[in-house]
Amino acid sequence: MTEIQLSNIDKHFGPVHVIREINLTVKDREFVVLLGPSGCGKTTTLRAIAGLEDIDSGDILIDGKPVQNVHASERDVAFVFQNYALYPHLTVYENMAFPLRAVRQSREEIDRTVQSVATSLGITGLLKRRPSALSGGDMQRVAIGRSLVRRPKAILLDEPIGSLDAKLRETMRVELKRLHIENGSTSIYVTHDQVEAMSLADRIVVMHEGLLQQVGTPDEVYRYPANMFVAQFVGSPVMNLADAAISEGADGVSVGLGGVNFAFPAALSGELTKAGAQQRKLKLGVRPEGVLLSHEPREGYVAVTSGIIEPLGSHDIVDLKVGDIVLRSRTKSGFVAGPGDQVWARIDPAQAHFFDTTSGISLG
Ligand code: ATP
Repeated sequence: MTEIQLSNIDKHFGPVHVIREINLTVKDREFVVLLGPSGCGKTTTLRAIAGLEDIDSGDILIDGKPVQNVHASERDVAFVFQNYALYPHLTVYENMAFPLRAVRQSREEIDRTVQSVATSLGITGLLKRRPSALSGGDMQRVAIGRSLVRRPKAILLDEPIGSLDAKLRETMRVELKRLHIENGSTSIYVTHDQVEAMSLADRIVVMHEGLLQQVGTPDEVYRYPANMFVAQFVGSPVMNLADAAISEGADGVSVGLGGVNFAFPAALSGELTKAGAQQRKLKLGVRPEGVLLSHEPREGYVAVTSGIIEPLGSHDIVDLKVGDIVLRSRTKSGFVAGPGDQVWARIDPAQAHFFDTTSGISLG
């Protein structure tokens, strides 16, 4: 059992407040991804857990025991760096055996473990090579292998596949997932790539400017973003966000976007009135798949103007001029329209989010 708990951790680098009162519990065998833009404090958080960085205040507990005064080498957590950090003069075998030699395991034990980890990573054929004779993906496999041989309590991975090309990243993502399913080690993984986070995580922790923005399953973070930052950071293409003017009529609510009114069902009226939305400045957020398109007029659809269409094979992304704003729609491939053509659009109320413009917080 390995559980990692961060309780109110805080850290400055000089005047820069890089981690602000972070509270998080990573459960046994859980795969948690810290996701956020460059500079938001992900790496510092990970390094603090490993004992590579001191914190100003708060507690870090591993299996319930505070570890602030425990040296990195005694915390029994492995750290996988983006730049691999392999010893260039040692073979792959020796690189992987290194942590075991350091704790004076017997030659037979070391051999058994290195061979077994190398087999699970598919690198037995590389054991005699030196790092200079390896591809980027193989180097990363070896670095991960070296972190696994000691069967650490937890594995911390800092953008481990960030420097690989897109195709290899995809392959390694699947391998990391398989390895985690097989080994089940408690893992914390840092990335700024939301696709990587969505595909690997049991839970995603979205960070921005040193603050936790939302903690949830990939589905929760995607479908119920807590605020505008999360809404726009997670998902590609990004969620549409536009100033919304709410007005109530006899047969429902209408939401004005760019000067064009979209009809919403009456049921929404209660929700928005309850939240005091009509008195507040609001933004409507809708993912491109929630902007529905038609070539002909249909009930509930309004006339808009088609712009650029990006055909992406499995689907198309269509830019729509809606009054004085642009909304992006994701539609099935083969949507035929030229720039300037009139088409019809509707916003799926089930996929619409409303955010307070000032605080950025979702109205739920
Ligand atoms: P990246 O993906 O670019 O590594 P990150 O989210 O992991 O970003 P951190 O590396 O944790 O962010 O950095 C957070 C902030 O702390 C940044 O503003 C960074 O410049 C600053 N910082 C990090 N390490 C140090 C250091 N040793 N000394 C001073 N400032 C630092």
